[in-house]
Amino acid sequence: MKNFARATTLAAALLSASLITAPAHAQPATVAPPAAAPTAPAAATAEARKANIVIIGTGGTIAGAGASAINTAAYQSAVVPVDKIIASVPEISKVANVKGEQIFQIGSESFNNERLLKLAKRVSEVLKQPDVDGIVITHGTDTIEETAYFLNLTLKSDKPVVVVGSMRPGTALGADGALNLYDAVLVASNPASKGKGTLVVLNDEIHTGRDVTKSNTFKAETFRSQFGPLGYVVEGRSLFYRLPARPHTLQTEWDIDKIDKLPEVAVVYAYGNVNPASIDAAVKNGAKAIVYAATGNGSVGDYMVEPLKAARAKGVQIVRASRTGSGVVVRNAEQPDDKYDWIVTDDQLPQKARILMALALTRTNDPKALQQVFWKY
Ligand code: ASP
Repeated sequence: MKNFARATTLAAALLSASLITAPAHAQPATVAPPAAAPTAPAAATAEARKANIVIIGTGGTIAGAGASAINTAAYQSAVVPVDKIIASVPEISKVANVKGEQIFQIGSESFNNERLLKLAKRVSEVLKQPDVDGIVITHGTDTIEETAYFLNLTLKSDKPVVVVGSMRPGTALGADGALNLYDAVLVASNPASKGKGTLVVLNDEIHTGRDVTKSNTFKAETFRSQFGPLGYVVEGRSLFYRLPARPHTLQTEWDIDKIDKLPEVAVVYAYGNVNPASIDAAVKNGAKAIVYAATGNGSVGDYMVEPLKAARAKGVQIVRASRTGSGVVVRNAEQPDDKYDWIVTDDQLPQKARILMALALTRTNDPKALQQVFWKY
Protein backbone atom coordinates (compact mmCIF):
# COMPACT_ATOMS: atom_id res chain seq x y z
CA MET A 1 0.00 0.00 0.00
CA LYS A 2 1.20 3.49 -0.85
CA ASN A 3 1.56 6.18 1.80
CA PHE A 4 -1.34 8.48 2.46
CA ALA A 5 -1.23 11.87 0.82
CA ARG A 6 -0.75 14.50 3.53
CA ALA A 7 -2.85 17.13 1.82
CA THR A 8 -4.28 18.96 4.77
CA THR A 9 -3.14 22.52 5.31
CA LEU A 10 -4.53 25.62 6.90
CA ALA A 11 -6.11 26.40 3.56
CA ALA A 12 -7.88 23.08 3.59
CA ALA A 13 -9.06 23.77 7.11
CA LEU A 14 -10.41 27.14 6.07
CA LEU A 15 -12.11 25.57 3.09
CA SER A 16 -13.75 23.26 5.57
CA ALA A 17 -15.62 26.09 7.20
CA SER A 18 -18.96 24.31 7.29
CA LEU A 19 -19.83 21.44 9.60
CA ILE A 20 -20.44 19.15 6.66
CA THR A 21 -16.94 19.54 5.29
CA ALA A 22 -15.12 19.97 8.60
CA PRO A 23 -11.92 17.90 8.83
CA ALA A 24 -12.62 14.70 10.64
CA HIS A 25 -10.39 15.49 13.56
CA ALA A 26 -12.32 18.69 14.04
CA GLN A 27 -15.34 16.67 15.11
CA PRO A 28 -16.16 17.10 18.77
CA ALA A 29 -14.56 14.43 20.94
CA THR A 30 -17.46 14.57 23.33
CA VAL A 31 -21.17 15.00 22.91
CA ALA A 32 -21.67 18.71 22.59
CA PRO A 33 -24.36 19.68 20.08
CA PRO A 34 -24.06 23.28 18.96
CA ALA A 35 -26.06 25.63 21.16
CA ALA A 36 -26.77 28.10 18.38
CA ALA A 37 -26.56 28.08 14.59
CA PRO A 38 -23.82 25.71 13.36
CA THR A 39 -20.42 27.32 12.95
CA ALA A 40 -17.01 25.85 12.24
CA PRO A 41 -15.76 23.79 15.20
CA ALA A 42 -12.90 25.55 16.96
CA ALA A 43 -10.28 23.04 15.86
CA ALA A 44 -11.15 23.65 12.20
CA THR A 45 -9.41 26.96 12.37
CA ALA A 46 -6.12 25.38 13.42
CA GLU A 47 -3.81 23.09 11.48
CA ALA A 48 -6.24 20.19 11.75
CA ARG A 49 -4.92 16.94 10.35
CA LYS A 50 -7.18 14.77 8.29
CA ALA A 51 -7.33 11.19 9.49
CA ASN A 52 -5.87 8.40 7.37
CA ILE A 53 -8.54 5.79 6.81
CA VAL A 54 -8.21 2.52 4.93
CA ILE A 55 -11.46 1.30 3.38
CA ILE A 56 -11.46 -2.47 2.95
CA GLY A 57 -14.04 -3.71 0.46
CA THR A 58 -15.71 -7.08 0.87
CA GLY A 59 -18.74 -6.71 -1.42
CA GLY A 60 -22.41 -6.65 -0.45
CA THR A 61 -25.18 -4.34 -1.60
CA ILE A 62 -23.04 -1.28 -1.01
CA ALA A 63 -21.09 -2.67 -3.97
CA GLY A 64 -24.27 -3.67 -5.79
CA ALA A 65 -25.96 -2.55 -9.00
CA GLY A 66 -29.50 -3.00 -10.26
CA ALA A 67 -31.00 -3.05 -13.74
CA SER A 68 -33.01 0.11 -13.08
CA ALA A 69 -33.45 2.84 -10.49
CA ILE A 70 -36.58 1.21 -9.10
CA ASN A 71 -34.68 -1.96 -8.25
CA THR A 72 -34.21 -1.22 -4.58
CA ALA A 73 -34.41 -4.84 -3.45
CA ALA A 74 -33.68 -6.93 -6.57
CA TYR A 75 -30.19 -6.35 -7.95
CA GLN A 76 -26.77 -7.92 -8.12
CA SER A 77 -24.67 -7.43 -5.02
CA ALA A 78 -20.87 -7.33 -4.87
CA VAL A 79 -20.00 -6.03 -8.34
CA VAL A 80 -18.65 -2.49 -7.90
CA PRO A 81 -14.95 -2.27 -6.87
CA VAL A 82 -14.25 -0.44 -3.62
CA ASP A 83 -12.18 2.28 -5.34
CA LYS A 84 -15.14 3.08 -7.58
CA ILE A 85 -17.45 3.28 -4.58
CA ILE A 86 -15.05 5.67 -2.86
CA ALA A 87 -14.74 7.79 -6.00
CA SER A 88 -18.53 8.08 -6.16
CA VAL A 89 -18.54 9.92 -2.81
CA PRO A 90 -16.11 12.83 -3.40
CA GLU A 91 -17.19 14.45 -0.11
CA ILE A 92 -15.15 11.78 1.68
CA SER A 93 -11.85 13.26 0.54
CA LYS A 94 -12.74 16.47 2.36
CA VAL A 95 -12.91 14.73 5.71
CA ALA A 96 -10.19 12.07 5.49
CA ASN A 97 -7.32 10.73 3.43
CA VAL A 98 -8.72 7.42 2.27
CA LYS A 99 -7.26 4.42 0.52
CA GLY A 100 -9.24 1.49 -0.83
CA GLU A 101 -8.30 -2.14 -0.64
CA GLN A 102 -10.37 -4.98 -2.08
CA ILE A 103 -10.15 -8.17 -0.05
CA PHE A 104 -13.30 -9.95 -1.34
CA GLN A 105 -16.16 -9.23 -3.70
CA ILE A 106 -18.89 -11.37 -2.16
CA GLY A 107 -22.37 -11.22 -0.70
CA SER A 108 -21.94 -11.39 3.06
CA GLU A 109 -24.06 -14.54 3.21
CA SER A 110 -20.97 -16.19 1.71
CA PHE A 111 -18.76 -15.43 4.70
CA ASN A 112 -17.47 -18.55 6.39
CA ASN A 113 -14.87 -19.02 9.10
CA GLU A 114 -12.03 -19.00 6.59
CA ARG A 115 -13.06 -15.67 5.07
CA LEU A 116 -13.84 -14.18 8.46
CA LEU A 117 -10.36 -15.06 9.70
CA LYS A 118 -8.73 -13.73 6.55
CA LEU A 119 -10.55 -10.40 6.87
CA ALA A 120 -9.87 -10.05 10.59
CA LYS A 121 -6.17 -10.83 10.18
CA ARG A 122 -5.85 -8.25 7.42
CA VAL A 123 -7.66 -5.65 9.54
CA SER A 124 -5.28 -6.38 12.39
CA GLU A 125 -2.28 -6.00 10.07
CA VAL A 126 -3.49 -2.65 8.69
CA LEU A 127 -4.28 -1.34 12.18
CA LYS A 128 -0.63 -1.87 13.14
CA GLN A 129 0.53 0.62 10.49
CA PRO A 130 1.45 3.77 12.38
CA ASP A 131 0.06 6.10 9.73
CA VAL A 132 -3.38 4.45 9.76
CA ASP A 133 -5.89 6.12 12.09
CA GLY A 134 -8.84 3.88 11.44
CA ILE A 135 -10.48 1.33 9.17
CA VAL A 136 -13.81 1.19 7.41
CA ILE A 137 -15.01 -2.15 6.07
CA THR A 138 -17.66 -2.16 3.36
CA HIS A 139 -19.72 -5.29 3.89
CA GLY A 140 -22.99 -6.92 2.97
CA THR A 141 -25.67 -6.31 5.53
CA ASP A 142 -26.78 -9.93 5.95
CA THR A 143 -23.93 -10.95 8.22
CA ILE A 144 -22.44 -7.59 9.15
CA GLU A 145 -23.45 -8.33 12.73
CA GLU A 146 -21.38 -11.50 12.88
CA THR A 147 -18.25 -9.99 11.33
CA ALA A 148 -18.48 -6.88 13.51
CA TYR A 149 -18.93 -8.94 16.66
CA PHE A 150 -15.99 -11.17 15.77
CA LEU A 151 -13.74 -8.16 15.17
CA ASN A 152 -15.04 -6.57 18.37
CA LEU A 153 -13.84 -9.61 20.31
CA THR A 154 -10.53 -10.29 18.60
CA LEU A 155 -8.80 -7.10 17.42
CA LYS A 156 -6.03 -5.84 19.63
CA SER A 157 -6.20 -2.15 18.92
CA ASP A 158 -8.17 0.82 20.15
CA LYS A 159 -8.18 2.47 16.72
CA PRO A 160 -11.68 2.84 15.29
CA VAL A 161 -12.94 0.04 13.06
CA VAL A 162 -16.29 0.73 11.44
CA VAL A 163 -18.26 -1.79 9.39
CA VAL A 164 -20.70 -0.29 6.92
CA GLY A 165 -23.14 -1.53 4.32
CA SER A 166 -26.24 -0.38 2.53
CA MET A 167 -29.70 -1.73 1.94
CA ARG A 168 -30.03 -0.35 -1.58
CA PRO A 169 -27.54 -0.54 -4.43
CA GLY A 170 -25.95 2.68 -5.64
CA THR A 171 -28.11 2.55 -8.79
CA ALA A 172 -31.40 2.72 -6.87
CA LEU A 173 -33.66 5.64 -6.09
CA GLY A 174 -33.00 6.54 -2.49
CA ALA A 175 -29.67 4.71 -2.45
CA ASP A 176 -28.25 4.78 1.06
CA GLY A 177 -24.69 3.61 0.46
CA ALA A 178 -23.05 6.97 -0.26
CA LEU A 179 -24.24 8.61 2.94
CA ASN A 180 -23.57 5.48 4.97
CA LEU A 181 -20.00 5.34 3.67
CA TYR A 182 -19.45 9.03 4.30
CA ASP A 183 -20.80 8.62 7.82
CA ALA A 184 -18.64 5.55 8.43
CA VAL A 185 -15.51 7.49 7.41
CA LEU A 186 -16.55 10.33 9.71
CA VAL A 187 -16.97 7.94 12.61
CA ALA A 188 -13.68 6.15 11.88
CA SER A 189 -11.95 9.55 11.74
CA ASN A 190 -13.36 10.82 15.00
CA PRO A 191 -10.95 10.43 17.95
CA ALA A 192 -14.05 9.93 20.12
CA SER A 193 -14.59 6.58 18.36
CA LYS A 194 -11.31 5.21 19.76
CA GLY A 195 -11.62 2.49 22.36
CA LYS A 196 -15.30 1.78 21.72
CA GLY A 197 -14.79 -1.54 19.95
CA THR A 198 -15.92 -2.39 16.45
CA LEU A 199 -18.75 -0.16 15.33
CA VAL A 200 -21.46 -0.55 12.70
CA VAL A 201 -22.74 2.57 10.97
CA LEU A 202 -25.87 2.68 8.82
CA ASN A 203 -28.95 4.82 8.52
CA ASP A 204 -27.55 7.70 10.60
CA GLU A 205 -26.84 5.45 13.58
CA ILE A 206 -23.71 4.16 15.29
CA HIS A 207 -24.09 0.71 16.82
CA THR A 208 -21.76 -1.52 18.79
CA GLY A 209 -20.78 -4.64 16.88
CA ARG A 210 -21.81 -6.66 19.92
CA ASP A 211 -25.48 -5.83 19.88
CA VAL A 212 -26.40 -4.79 16.38
CA THR A 213 -28.61 -7.02 14.27
CA LYS A 214 -30.42 -6.82 10.95
CA SER A 215 -34.15 -6.89 11.59
CA ASN A 216 -35.82 -6.27 8.22
CA THR A 217 -35.14 -7.78 4.79
CA PHE A 218 -35.40 -4.64 2.66
CA LYS A 219 -35.97 -1.44 4.62
CA ALA A 220 -33.18 1.09 5.10
CA GLU A 221 -34.16 1.18 8.75
CA THR A 222 -33.23 -2.39 9.54
CA PHE A 223 -30.34 -2.29 12.03
CA ARG A 224 -31.20 -2.25 15.67
CA SER A 225 -29.51 -2.95 18.95
CA GLN A 226 -31.49 -4.37 21.81
CA PHE A 227 -30.20 -1.61 24.08
CA GLY A 228 -30.25 1.17 21.47
CA PRO A 229 -27.52 2.64 19.27
CA LEU A 230 -24.42 4.22 20.80
CA GLY A 231 -25.00 7.41 18.86
CA TYR A 232 -25.98 9.23 15.70
CA VAL A 233 -24.26 10.73 12.69
CA VAL A 234 -25.89 13.96 11.66
CA GLU A 235 -24.77 16.75 9.37
CA GLY A 236 -21.22 15.50 9.24
CA ARG A 237 -20.80 14.99 12.96
CA SER A 238 -20.68 11.74 14.88
CA LEU A 239 -22.23 11.98 18.31
CA PHE A 240 -21.95 9.36 21.04
CA TYR A 241 -24.50 9.00 23.84
CA ARG A 242 -23.69 5.55 25.28
CA LEU A 243 -20.71 3.27 25.84
CA PRO A 244 -20.47 -0.49 25.33
CA ALA A 245 -20.66 -2.12 28.77
CA ARG A 246 -19.10 -5.48 27.90
CA PRO A 247 -15.36 -6.07 27.26
CA HIS A 248 -14.11 -5.75 23.68
CA THR A 249 -10.90 -5.50 21.62
CA LEU A 250 -7.99 -4.80 24.02
CA GLN A 251 -9.99 -6.09 27.00
CA THR A 252 -10.70 -9.61 25.71
CA GLU A 253 -8.78 -12.87 25.89
CA TRP A 254 -8.64 -13.41 22.12
CA ASP A 255 -6.06 -12.08 19.71
CA ILE A 256 -6.80 -12.55 16.02
CA ASP A 257 -3.09 -12.79 15.25
CA LYS A 258 -3.00 -16.01 17.27
CA ILE A 259 -6.17 -17.66 15.92
CA ASP A 260 -5.79 -19.73 12.76
CA LYS A 261 -8.86 -21.93 12.95
CA LEU A 262 -12.26 -21.82 14.61
CA PRO A 263 -13.97 -24.92 15.97
CA GLU A 264 -17.22 -26.00 14.35
CA VAL A 265 -20.26 -24.63 16.18
CA ALA A 266 -23.71 -25.42 14.78
CA VAL A 267 -26.91 -23.46 15.23
CA VAL A 268 -30.06 -25.59 15.28
CA TYR A 269 -33.28 -23.64 14.91
CA ALA A 270 -36.28 -24.77 16.92
CA TYR A 271 -39.85 -24.82 15.64
CA GLY A 272 -42.97 -26.87 16.21
CA ASN A 273 -42.14 -30.38 14.97
CA VAL A 274 -38.38 -29.68 14.91
CA ASN A 275 -36.62 -32.85 13.83
CA PRO A 276 -34.34 -34.37 16.51
CA ALA A 277 -32.18 -35.67 13.66
CA SER A 278 -30.86 -32.13 13.21
CA ILE A 279 -29.01 -32.52 16.52
CA ASP A 280 -27.49 -35.84 15.43
CA ALA A 281 -26.53 -34.32 12.09
CA ALA A 282 -24.65 -31.50 13.82
CA VAL A 283 -22.82 -33.99 16.04
CA LYS A 284 -21.93 -36.22 13.08
CA ASN A 285 -20.69 -33.14 11.25
CA GLY A 286 -18.12 -32.56 13.99
CA ALA A 287 -19.82 -29.76 15.94
CA LYS A 288 -18.02 -29.06 19.19
CA ALA A 289 -21.02 -27.08 20.37
CA ILE A 290 -24.65 -26.70 19.37
CA VAL A 291 -26.40 -23.38 19.85
CA TYR A 292 -30.03 -24.36 20.13
CA ALA A 293 -32.09 -21.38 18.93
CA ALA A 294 -35.01 -22.35 21.09
CA THR A 295 -38.44 -20.81 21.44
CA GLY A 296 -39.13 -18.18 24.08
CA ASN A 297 -36.82 -18.20 27.07
CA GLY A 298 -34.75 -21.02 25.59
CA SER A 299 -37.53 -23.57 25.99
CA VAL A 300 -36.80 -27.10 24.81
CA GLY A 301 -39.60 -29.37 23.61
CA ASP A 302 -40.02 -32.58 25.58
CA TYR A 303 -38.96 -34.71 22.59
CA MET A 304 -35.79 -32.63 22.10
CA VAL A 305 -34.41 -32.96 25.63
CA GLU A 306 -33.04 -36.49 25.19
CA PRO A 307 -31.30 -35.80 21.84
CA LEU A 308 -29.62 -32.74 23.36
CA LYS A 309 -28.60 -34.69 26.47
CA ALA A 310 -27.23 -37.42 24.22
CA ALA A 311 -25.15 -34.89 22.32
CA ARG A 312 -23.81 -33.50 25.59
CA ALA A 313 -22.92 -37.03 26.69
CA LYS A 314 -20.74 -37.24 23.58
CA GLY A 315 -18.83 -34.14 24.73
CA VAL A 316 -20.70 -31.58 22.61
CA GLN A 317 -21.48 -28.34 24.46
CA ILE A 318 -25.17 -27.40 24.44
CA VAL A 319 -25.99 -23.70 24.47
CA ARG A 320 -29.59 -22.64 25.01
CA ALA A 321 -30.42 -19.51 23.01
CA SER A 322 -33.67 -17.84 22.03
CA ARG A 323 -35.10 -17.31 18.57
CA THR A 324 -37.18 -14.34 19.80
CA GLY A 325 -34.53 -11.75 18.90
CA SER A 326 -34.23 -10.06 22.27
CA GLY A 327 -34.26 -10.65 26.00
CA VAL A 328 -32.07 -12.97 28.07
CA VAL A 329 -32.16 -16.73 28.46
CA VAL A 330 -32.34 -17.45 32.17
CA ARG A 331 -30.18 -20.27 33.49
CA ASN A 332 -32.04 -23.14 35.17
CA ALA A 333 -35.43 -21.60 34.31
CA GLU A 334 -36.94 -23.47 31.36
CA GLN A 335 -34.46 -26.33 31.75
CA PRO A 336 -32.22 -27.56 34.59
CA ASP A 337 -28.95 -26.40 33.03
CA ASP A 338 -26.89 -27.27 36.11
CA LYS A 339 -28.16 -30.85 36.01
CA TYR A 340 -27.69 -31.29 32.25
CA ASP A 341 -24.40 -29.39 32.12
CA TRP A 342 -25.77 -26.99 29.54
CA ILE A 343 -24.98 -23.32 28.97
CA VAL A 344 -27.25 -20.32 28.42
CA THR A 345 -26.49 -17.41 26.10
CA ASP A 346 -27.46 -14.50 28.33
CA ASP A 347 -28.75 -11.99 25.72
CA GLN A 348 -26.74 -13.22 22.74
CA LEU A 349 -28.63 -13.88 19.53
CA PRO A 350 -28.00 -17.40 18.19
CA GLN A 351 -25.74 -16.21 15.35
CA LYS A 352 -23.70 -14.10 17.78
CA ALA A 353 -23.60 -16.93 20.30
CA ARG A 354 -22.01 -19.08 17.61
CA ILE A 355 -19.18 -16.56 17.22
CA LEU A 356 -18.62 -16.23 20.96
CA MET A 357 -18.78 -20.00 21.52
CA ALA A 358 -16.30 -20.69 18.72
CA LEU A 359 -13.86 -18.21 20.25
CA ALA A 360 -14.44 -19.48 23.79
CA LEU A 361 -13.73 -23.05 22.68
CA THR A 362 -10.28 -22.00 21.47
CA ARG A 363 -9.40 -21.55 25.16
CA THR A 364 -11.48 -23.96 27.22
CA ASN A 365 -13.91 -26.86 27.03
CA ASP A 366 -15.08 -26.51 30.62
CA PRO A 367 -18.83 -25.74 30.58
CA LYS A 368 -18.59 -23.66 33.77
CA ALA A 369 -15.89 -21.47 32.25
CA LEU A 370 -17.86 -21.28 29.00
CA GLN A 371 -20.92 -20.10 30.91
CA GLN A 372 -18.84 -17.35 32.50
CA VAL A 373 -17.73 -16.25 29.01
CA PHE A 374 -21.38 -15.69 28.05
CA TRP A 375 -22.02 -13.68 31.18
CA LYS A 376 -18.87 -11.63 30.67
CA TYR A 377 -18.97 -10.78 26.96
N1 ASP B 1 -27.10 -10.19 0.48
C1 ASP B 1 -26.46 -8.92 0.66
C2 ASP B 1 -25.24 -9.13 1.52
O1 ASP B 1 -25.34 -9.31 2.69
C3 ASP B 1 -27.38 -7.95 1.24
C4 ASP B 1 -26.81 -6.60 1.56
O2 ASP B 1 -25.63 -6.33 1.46
O3 ASP B 1 -27.62 -5.73 1.96
O4 ASP B 1 -24.17 -9.13 1.03
